[in-house]
Amino acid sequence: MPKYRILTPLAKSIQQYSAGFLHLFYPHICMQCGSENLAASTLLCLPCEKSLPYTKFISIEKNSIEKIFWGRVPIKEAGASLFFTKESIVQSLLFALKYKHQKKAGWLLGNIIGQEMLESHRFKTIDCMIPIPLTKKKQRKRGYNQAMLICEGIQQKLPHIEILPILRKLKNSTSQTGKGRIERSLSISHPFTVITPHKLMSKNIVVVDDVITTGATLEAACKCLWKESHPCSISIVAAAYTL
Ligand SMILES: [Zn+2]
Repeated sequence: MPKYRILTPLAKSIQQYSAGFLHLFYPHICMQCGSENLAASTLLCLPCEKSLPYTKFISIEKNSIEKIFWGRVPIKEAGASLFFTKESIVQSLLFALKYKHQKKAGWLLGNIIGQEMLESHRFKTIDCMIPIPLTKKKQRKRGYNQAMLICEGIQQKLPHIEILPILRKLKNSTSQTGKGRIERSLSISHPFTVITPHKLMSKNIVVVDDVITTGATLEAACKCLWKESHPCSISIVAAAYTL
């Protein structure tokens, strides 16, 4: 019998779901392949971590993510470590992070970003990280902010970068139902505020999020940071980029 089989997408997602499900009860096994050969502090064995779909964008100038923000908001450098596709291990990791209280997924993704920042000639002047916040209500419900966990994972690799969770997401900024046209447009363009803006003045900052899709949330956050805090530069990193 061959050692490796070609799995249909359904079989593959069932296998990944089962491994992810098993991981909840047997946290010492790899979330992707079920191997027992992994450290207690992580979710993937080394071969599975190495086989993730890396974008390498963190080291690449003028990459697809930087182009998203051209003409929208000034960004020094931007990148995301992994490609996000449906029914992939990246989706399972993000799902575990957001909905299964798997904080280790956030630290693992942060470690991956931090390692890439460490090895790149870019992102060398960063002073502090700003996690994209959740609304107070959502954070209370989830118990944590996944972007903060990613920041903590980055900091394990780059301890000199301070985490400043001083960006706030304003109440109801995502729910537009029942609002008038002007009110709606105002809340879309200004859904954030900075609680201690002077702390970022003249600093080189990096805004951290879990996934980049259209870049709309990050654009709004960066516009708010430019307006309220006057940093020296703003960069962006995320765990994954949706194709
Ligand atoms: Zn594995």
